[in-house]
Order: sequence, then structure tokens, then C-alpha cells
Amino acid sequence: MDKALKAVLEWWEVSGVDTPEVAAPKPKKRTPLPVNPETMSSAPAPAPMSAPAPNLIDLSEVKNIEDLYQAIREFDAGEISDHARQAVISRGNAKADIMVIGEAPGRDEDIQGKPFVGRSGQLLDKIFASIGLTEETLYISNVIFWRPPGNRNPTPEELAKCRPFTLKHIELIDPKLIILVGGVSFNALTGQTGIMKHRGQWTTLTANGRDIPTLPIYHPAFLLRQPALKKEAWRDMLSLREKMGELHVAP
Ligand code: URA
Repeated sequence: MDKALKAVLEWWEVSGVDTPEVAAPKPKKRTPLPVNPETMSSAPAPAPMSAPAPNLIDLSEVKNIEDLYQAIREFDAGEISDHARQAVISRGNAKADIMVIGEAPGRDEDIQGKPFVGRSGQLLDKIFASIGLTEETLYISNVIFWRPPGNRNPTPEELAKCRPFTLKHIELIDPKLIILVGGVSFNALTGQTGIMKHRGQWTTLTANGRDIPTLPIYHPAFLLRQPALKKEAWRDMLSLREKMGELHVAP
């Protein structure tokens, strides 16, 4: 069987979709989130836990993606960079139209040096493959570039330290669409909390003077613990596919 078709069928099975006909509910009319300030680097409304901090590092000299990779590798982020094997920055196609931003590397990512290569990454790949998206058509990264010791949550300070790199990363990749994977990434880049409420609702981030449609989705690690929610993840993929059609983004 064709590989892409197999992935779709597998995903339909795990996400509880019975037939292809039921798989395309019309997305609800949504009120746009009161996001984004002028640019992503200015702070949105304060969030209790980790309101985006002002940029702590000057990256104005970073002009291309290789410079950025080097700046990240040389950066002292404190405990996380001290304890990690290596900086985990990205995988996929740097020319892709869709940028996917998760939370932080785990053990497998720390070993292999690439984001989302462990169990949750495999589920994430499957979710995207169900609408024909692969490493050829996605660029995948995280808001934290080093594995936090023991896989603890990144602290607000660590998120603030890494944030300027992520803003620069988005600016250099210049994607047409952004997918924020999980609540930490959603909070770090929009300043808002509540992934359960906001998943599936398009918002915008602004880079290079352009508003980029941005979709928060559930983290695959969460879906592994809450398989009943895979149906909603499937709906999000349908919404993404529709947006791709509107913006002429090819899978
Ligand atoms: N979870 C993430 O958010 N990112 C990874 O790279 C791996 C697991």
C-alpha cells in the first residue's frame, strides 16, 4: 500500500474517524484571538506564568540560518545547556512553507540532535502525514534548544532566554504558516495560556512585517496520554489543510 495512504488510514484509525466522509466537518466561524502586538518581540498582555520577556540577547548581526545555528550552539543557557549533550535545533526543510514549533528536546532528541524523533515525534509525523506533510514540506523546531535535565519543564527564565532565537528563527525561515505544538510553545510565543481552549483556533504571529497564520495544536505527548483527544487533532489537520488551500501552500 502507498506509504502516505497507509499513514492516513493509520491516523484515521487512531483518531477514531470511521469513514472519510465524516472527516471533514466545516470549521466553525471563529473570533480571532486578540493577539498580536506590532511585532512578536513586543510583549503581549501579561500571562501569569511566563509572559514573554524582552529580548535578552542581540541577534541583529545574525543574517542567515547558519549564523543562527552557530549563535545557538555557542549560547550559554545555564543549566539546560550545561547538562545537555548538544543543542537540538531543527529538522526538515528550511525552505518549507510550514514551520512547526514544539517545546523542548527529550532524551531521544538529545541523543540524536534532532527535534521530535522520539515516541511523541513519531506520532507528530503520523499526524502531519495524514494530510500529506513530511520533512520535505515542514520545518520543525522547539522553543527550547536543550533538553531540560530529567525532562523537567523549562523555566520561565529559560524560555525568555531562548525566545529571541525563536523569533529570529521565524524571521529567517519566513514561513507562510506556523504550527505551535503544545501549551508551552503557545504560551512562549503568544503570551496566552490555555491550550485546551485555544487549540484549533487560528491566530497570528508577526514577522518581517507580515502576519503569519498560526495554529496551536495539542502536544503529541499529551495525545499519547489522552487518546480520546486525537479526534480534535484530526480536526486541526483538516483546518490546516483548508488554510493551506487558501494560501496556495502545496503539501
Ligand atoms: N517534545 C517536544 O516538544 N519537542 C521535541 O523535540 C521532543 C518532544
